[in-house]
Amino acid sequence: MNFTTDCIEQCSPRIGTLSGFKRFPGMKFATPLLLMYTKKGSIPHLTKEVQRMTGVNIKQQILSISLPTIISMKEILKQYNSFLEFVNMQEHLTFLSIQDPSELTNKGFQQTESIAVWSRHGRHSLTAEEYMEIVDIIKPDIYLALCDGDTDRDSTGKRAQKSVRRSQYLLEKCLEKHNNSETLKFSGILGAVEGGYEIIEREKCIKYLKNKDLLGYVIDGLHRNGPETAAIKYEEINKIMQHTINMLPKEKLRVTMGCWNPIVVLDLIGLGVDVFDSSYAFLITEQLKAFTFQYESNNLHQIDETLPEISLNDKRYAEDFSPISPNCICLTCKNHTKAYIHHLCQAKELLAQVLLMIHNTHHYIQFFEAIRTNLTNGTFPEFRKTIQIQFESQITS
Ligand SMILES: [Zn+2]
Repeated sequence: MNFTTDCIEQCSPRIGTLSGFKRFPGMKFATPLLLMYTKKGSIPHLTKEVQRMTGVNIKQQILSISLPTIISMKEILKQYNSFLEFVNMQEHLTFLSIQDPSELTNKGFQQTESIAVWSRHGRHSLTAEEYMEIVDIIKPDIYLALCDGDTDRDSTGKRAQKSVRRSQYLLEKCLEKHNNSETLKFSGILGAVEGGYEIIEREKCIKYLKNKDLLGYVIDGLHRNGPETAAIKYEEINKIMQHTINMLPKEKLRVTMGCWNPIVVLDLIGLGVDVFDSSYAFLITEQLKAFTFQYESNNLHQIDETLPEISLNDKRYAEDFSPISPNCICLTCKNHTKAYIHHLCQAKELLAQVLLMIHNTHHYIQFFEAIRTNLTNGTFPEFRKTIQIQFESQITS
């Protein structure tokens, strides 16, 4: 697998290409790239059939799957050639992460040689060997080496140091297995950049990682996933992110997982992060909200009239017979009004989340498409500004 980028300066927005997938040799993915957030391989609330009807070409996406949602299926998965065969989604590619970006990860429980992963059935403590056995069964196209990302803003320097040491130890073990595995020889392995908010620890971590044969890096250990990530402001991570990216090799892929809000996503793209996941679209769907921010250049003049996100549970939409977004071509906007979705929310009908997830997924995919177009056209700074203005007006209104 290969990653190429046009990047010249260190901390600047960039366009890149991921290619060389064994199963689909001609397939290419442009970065900045959005991984499709899934639980057990399915976009939450959307069946495979509904996904195909959403009005978005979600074929040939990279599905983000996380250990907590699939670890309990380990024994069943052994009967199949791969995870994708089990879920009958072979037309896609997979990216395996250790934690679920949409769920708050329980703090603590990491041990010297093992990492705690929580599923519905409780805690699973995984050593590198046990993890690699699961990776071998799943056969992801890209995966993160086992790591200790159990740090956030409040973690002590000592804890950050421990996360770096433990992650180095685990990477060493994972790489040994990876390099000797026949089944994983075409999968891309990523190393985690840990160290919490401690610049010295991040430096130590990157110094070590630079010498390893990796497809790229996941900038990890800045949050514990779940809704709290969406509340993080750029000012809180700016310094540590800039410092981290400045030290990373320019030619390698840079990933950051979690439900960052869209303006922070744009700021991180501004620093040269290449890959994100769509868990934020799932997060706002669970809050019965819909994206309404404008990203199409010919509609940006309307921005002062719209909010970036609206709550369909709000009674102000009880008699609003217009679609969520007048310019949206998704299945929800083409067929249903805000009043109908409001009624479904009030009646606690699960169809509300289905319709919102269709729109929010479509909107977020199109947003990333617009990001790439604006980067190509050299209009990214103006684009970023217009999105920022929309979200700032929500904060002040
Ligand atoms: Zn829509």
